Amino acid sequence: MANHLFDALMAAGAAADKPFLRLEDGASVTYGGLVALSGQIANALVQLGVRPGDRVAVQVEKTPEALITYLGCVRAGAVFLPLNTAYTPAEVDYFLADAEPVLCLCDPAAEAALRPSATRIGARLETLDAAGQGSFRSLLDAQSPAFVDVARGPDDLAAILYTSGTTGRSKGAMLTHDNLASNARTLVAAWRFTADDVLLHALPIFHTHGLFVATNTLLMAGGSMLFLPKFDLAALLALLPQATTLMGVPTFYSRLLSAPDFTRAAAAHMRLFISGSAPLSAEVHREFRARTGHAILERYGMTETNMNTSNPHDGDRRAGTVGLPLPGVSLRIADPDTGRELPQGEIGIIEVKGPNVFSGYWRMPEKTAQEFRADGFFITGDMGQVSADGYVSIVGRAKDLVISGGFNIYPAEVEGLIDELPGVAESAVIGVPHADLGEAVVAVVAPKPGAVLDEAALRAALDGRLARFKQPRRVIILPALPRNTMGKIQKAALRETYRDLLA
Ligand code: ATP
Ligand code: MG
Repeated sequence: MANHLFDALMAAGAAADKPFLRLEDGASVTYGGLVALSGQIANALVQLGVRPGDRVAVQVEKTPEALITYLGCVRAGAVFLPLNTAYTPAEVDYFLADAEPVLCLCDPAAEAALRPSATRIGARLETLDAAGQGSFRSLLDAQSPAFVDVARGPDDLAAILYTSGTTGRSKGAMLTHDNLASNARTLVAAWRFTADDVLLHALPIFHTHGLFVATNTLLMAGGSMLFLPKFDLAALLALLPQATTLMGVPTFYSRLLSAPDFTRAAAAHMRLFISGSAPLSAEVHREFRARTGHAILERYGMTETNMNTSNPHDGDRRAGTVGLPLPGVSLRIADPDTGRELPQGEIGIIEVKGPNVFSGYWRMPEKTAQEFRADGFFITGDMGQVSADGYVSIVGRAKDLVISGGFNIYPAEVEGLIDELPGVAESAVIGVPHADLGEAVVAVVAPKPGAVLDEAALRAALDGRLARFKQPRRVIILPALPRNTMGKIQKAALRETYRDLLA
């Protein structure tokens, strides 16, 4: 039967013996294996009482079985709901109570702690471990690989994905079959993915980047993935010669640059390096290009919208920008308060509309209503501007905007200048409470390996390059900036740590 997303993902018609996943130990999962295992999983889900539209929550390590559970859910018409493996049982309890899944898959180590949460919502709890074994896996052997896909249309829900929780409590974004299928189709074309591609996959699969951007795009093209359980610099370098493409968060690229054996020759055969999930500093972009000759392709998206903009495959990949709106995506810059569209070049809130944009936050109708304009544009929460030739730059999140003495300060502008100073690896600019100014600018800076930074020298270096009101009142030097698993700097945590610094 027609299943909008699964049919679209399989449309390349890869041969049954073609590898879909190639694992570190040399083993592989073929496309035939994918179809068989996802069929067994779909049959198991039905047997466990999962009906179309039911949620299946999954908090397990990254394995082929975990990834193919996503496809089994799609085929069974269930709503796939992956959870960050870093969440504690207490945090997972919140998500389970919120999403009320019928079935939860967890790591055996978390089973006892999660049992009461599952019982409370009447969910069945099964296990899957880091080797792909566990009670759920045991159920599969008895299942037939043959499964008649549950009919699903473009607007049926395929997944609920919780946002990263960078700015507050995570929200469940409801993503339809066509949100995912349409965006994958757009990305295959924009990034020229083909069946010859071998994507080096070292991202987590509980987040939109590793799950949908990487996996859906690659599947739709009918290519193969080198599937690493996690980011590991040595493993990445060892597998790089077999890959054609890499998708990473910015820290992948700064770590690659820290490896002396990551040379121009090591990257020469690669077709494409893609970055997203957090801002890639213009400095890293330039260093990477100087080292390898490759211009990293930076793109911008979010859990709620899939991918919105991308630097071009053919054309100028501009450092410090997230490129042009993808085909089918309408993007505008609006006044955050009135929603009025601003003239080209002005800084405002980024709003988007298109088949990629989610259908709302799970069980949060008020929040959903707040984040959409009357004409259907979604208010991203990111501030940005568009150049005369259409390139979008992000200047920071609206929630990270610093307002000092009545002036707006966009963190990205100050961070960009700090990152260019000698010895600086990375920086985060935040606002902290200040009696006179309301907020004052504070920069938190991490040195490059071996470099020694000095607050007075950094402040002196910025003097003259930045208007006084944008200059940091204090520069805090830390060995590294706090980041979450997606490489996002935890600015809320920094604001909390330094809230009394200037009070
Ligand atoms: P929450 O919404 O729960 O606070 P989050 O916004 O970090 O968390 P995600 O959906 O994972 O959750 O991240 C999307 C955000 O990541 C975007 O809104 C944007 O701020 C940021 N982002 C993604 N790609 C880029 C990029 N290339 N440059 C700058 N920021 C980016
Ligand atoms: Mg967000």
